[in-house]
Amino acid sequence: MKLTVDLSLLHQAVKTMGADIIDFELSSELIPIEPIDKQLSEGLEVNFEDIEFDTGLASYQGRQVLLYIKDHGSRVLTALEDGSRGNKFHIADCVTLDDMRKRGRFERYVVTNNLTESFPVSGIVWETNQIVEGETQLKVCKNCLNHLNYKGYKTKPKGPIFHAFSLADFFDTYSSFFKFMPSGVANSQIPHYTKDWDEVSKGIRQKFNYQCQQCGVDLSRNKRLLHVHHINGVKSDNRDSNLTPLCCDCHRKQPNHQHMFIKHEETKLIARLRNEQGLNVKESWKDIYDLADPGVHGVIDLLEKYHVSLPEVGQQIQNEKREVVAELELSWPLKKVGVAINKPEAVAATKLGWKVYSMRHALSRIEQLTNNLR
Ligand SMILES: [Zn+2]
Ligand SMILES: [Zn+2]
Ligand SMILES: [Zn+2]
Repeated sequence: MKLTVDLSLLHQAVKTMGADIIDFELSSELIPIEPIDKQLSEGLEVNFEDIEFDTGLASYQGRQVLLYIKDHGSRVLTALEDGSRGNKFHIADCVTLDDMRKRGRFERYVVTNNLTESFPVSGIVWETNQIVEGETQLKVCKNCLNHLNYKGYKTKPKGPIFHAFSLADFFDTYSSFFKFMPSGVANSQIPHYTKDWDEVSKGIRQKFNYQCQQCGVDLSRNKRLLHVHHINGVKSDNRDSNLTPLCCDCHRKQPNHQHMFIKHEETKLIARLRNEQGLNVKESWKDIYDLADPGVHGVIDLLEKYHVSLPEVGQQIQNEKREVVAELELSWPLKKVGVAINKPEAVAATKLGWKVYSMRHALSRIEQLTNNLR
């Protein structure tokens, strides 16, 4: 169920009374849970053809998912004993899946956005002809990590990236690509804050004039986007010295901050405000990582290796009437080349003579992209 509240009449009434409109915030956002969300958190068996890979990531009905083959046949006991010997789960349109597609082998896949890392598997023991079911910890497909250049998988030591892989972290990285967030996560999202947290948080944000202490963006007109971060990670430690206000984009990029699922609209708004406030200083690739959406970090990693010039982040594209038709995540305005997260924005910019790559195509056609920049 989605609630949309139109407050314009109320605001009008407040105005005629001569009162000020007070900016109010909902401390926890309502997350609509549809039947499909429930099914996906439990795992849903679907046909391979119904899984979408538009963005390069696996998705089902607009939700990011992972997919795996539940049926392990006679290997089920081995898989239950040691999940790393079971089927790998896929998160992207990797070469393994592409191979299967080419060979016309369409097995039944379970798609899920359950992030507990525990996977129901089944199979049959030949000796006893017995059907076995259970849960095990399957591992991520390495070809998928390579396909996405996840955390720089193509260019950095692969072992540590594979072993440190966490589904929560992974889904969080690409949350901007999807309209819906995984409901299983949404429920576990409420952190263990103290009772007086709302008051404490408000006080800290006021004290710092609603300014992010990392990127410096002024959010006094968008207070909702300013979080208060516990520097030592302990959510009950509310000493002043342990609290600092961070915009939601800087906050999500702090270590161990999965489960934040910041919407693309919000990061775009922050990018726009940084631009307007002259804060979008780009002197090194490190600045680009800090400014850009984590979902394009894999692309940035490759661009850095190709030694191209630093891109703009969150650049607005205007048409002849000076209307903003798109905001490109990464762009080189002089060459009219860019990388977009959303398809409609890519299409709009293309109509104005830009060459725009999706994350997927930026990764797979990196040479072509970089050649366009020379
Ligand atoms: Zn894969
Ligand atoms: Zn910030
Ligand atoms: Zn924090």
